[in-house]
Amino acid sequence: KRSTIFSVIFVLLAATYALVAFLFTWFVFGGAYTFKDQVIIGMVVSFAIAIGFKPFYDWLGRITDTFLFKGKYRPQELIAEISDVLSQTFDLDIVINILRGKISQALRIKRMQVIVIEKNGKLWKWKDYKLKEKEQALKKIITYFREIKKEYASNTFYNDADGWIIVLEDIKRKVADKVKFEKSFLLINEIEELKAALVVPLFSKKRLVGLFLLSTKKSGDMFTNEDIKALKTIASQAAIAIENAQLYEQVKDFSKSLQKEVERQTKKLKDANAHLRRLDKAKSEFISIASHQLRTPLTIIKGFVSLLLEGSYGEISKEVRKTLNKIYISNERLIKLVEDLLNISRIESGRIEYNIEKVRLEDFCQEIVDSFIIQAKEKHLKMELKLPKKPLPKVLTDEKKLREIISNLVDNAIKYTPKGWVKISLLQVDGKVQIRVSDTGIGISANEIPYLFAKFSRGKDINRINTGGTGLGLYVGKKMIEALQGKIWAESKGVNMGSTFVVEIPVKVDEKKLK
Ligand code: ADP
Repeated sequence: KRSTIFSVIFVLLAATYALVAFLFTWFVFGGAYTFKDQVIIGMVVSFAIAIGFKPFYDWLGRITDTFLFKGKYRPQELIAEISDVLSQTFDLDIVINILRGKISQALRIKRMQVIVIEKNGKLWKWKDYKLKEKEQALKKIITYFREIKKEYASNTFYNDADGWIIVLEDIKRKVADKVKFEKSFLLINEIEELKAALVVPLFSKKRLVGLFLLSTKKSGDMFTNEDIKALKTIASQAAIAIENAQLYEQVKDFSKSLQKEVERQTKKLKDANAHLRRLDKAKSEFISIASHQLRTPLTIIKGFVSLLLEGSYGEISKEVRKTLNKIYISNERLIKLVEDLLNISRIESGRIEYNIEKVRLEDFCQEIVDSFIIQAKEKHLKMELKLPKKPLPKVLTDEKKLREIISNLVDNAIKYTPKGWVKISLLQVDGKVQIRVSDTGIGISANEIPYLFAKFSRGKDINRINTGGTGLGLYVGKKMIEALQGKIWAESKGVNMGSTFVVEIPVKVDEKKLK
């Protein structure tokens, strides 16, 4: 290109010189001139040409540029353009395409490769590149950059990263000129193997995230200082963009695998849940069937023992009566257990039914006390009933279920009270009626109260006092009373301080819901 420009200039200048000299002689000297004239003319014209040469050369250069691909780019614009587009994407493919496209176009180079190094040191999508067999060469270059980065960290000598861009021509010339040895000299073969003219490292903070490999320019021109400076700026932006894209990719991968994991676990949980439901159903069915089957013979036993005790089969001795009584009590316990189990299976399978009617609680409480008087007397406990002075309004509830609940409370109170009294009080508190069953028994420690109403929950060491319990009574009672829109809770000042169990029912229940 330069030869062309110089030839053209030479011809044009010679022609101009000849023409100007000719015109001068012709018009100024009228065709006749001496050697002295010739020298003067020559000097004047040469002077004029010397002054006009530079602008003329530039002008000619611009014209030839359009034919010969040089076309100057503006580095600032290129940098701004690239950073603008890079800031808008996190897609690594797009980032690389933008870099390749814009840089190749502006610098008019034949080829450009963007090598991306992943966090684990692997080359990104390396399989896609045709450079595969040149991996060794590339690795050597990568190692070189990593090493100088390390040296840079410990040595202030390398404080200008400009020198890190390897310009093949430069190092070749330095080798030829035998200047002081530089490590990059050892890379000449590798760089040539990769067909690169320029290698630009992409450093993001400490990490080498990639390389630009640039071929020579289409015009055959050398890379200018301007080019190198622009590339340096672009390299630092590219490094950040690549690192961001990698992070984004990582986050995407992570959330993808997280989602998969969540789905997997959810399915596992669902399966486990379905399995548990099946087991639970089978268990409920088993309990239900077993309890039904047990109930009939137990009732029959109860009937016959009663008859025996009443003397329907003739007089019985004291000894036999004592034994029969034990059988009766044990049988009663079994009946209660079966009843509890049946209730639980009904509650849990939603098959429990409530018969709602208006109940006068004063009568109801009196009946309960009456039914426990003998049991209390046997333990030498005083049985008290405290009714309100003003009659209470009737409440809507299931009398049979309520009887089961309160009976269990009174039964417990008698069981867990060695001496003193058991008291049932009925009172009205803010639109609600309360049946309170209090005793002077073993009491409950504060940390046990929250667990009393759980299934199979029995107090610590309670087995010593009463081996027959199941820990089901309070659980069943709570479920039932809640279905009847009431509440149940326990109060106790502590161990050996007695306890009070309170059942509370609203005077006005929501009839629709109850039904
Ligand atoms: P069970 O009496 O068959 O063990 P419950 O569900 O009726 O089952 O009672 C659960 C537990 O609550 C009992 O084991 C006992 O520890 C405690 N408890 C119940 N009533 C009283 C009470 N009146 N005094 C002290 N502890 C009680």
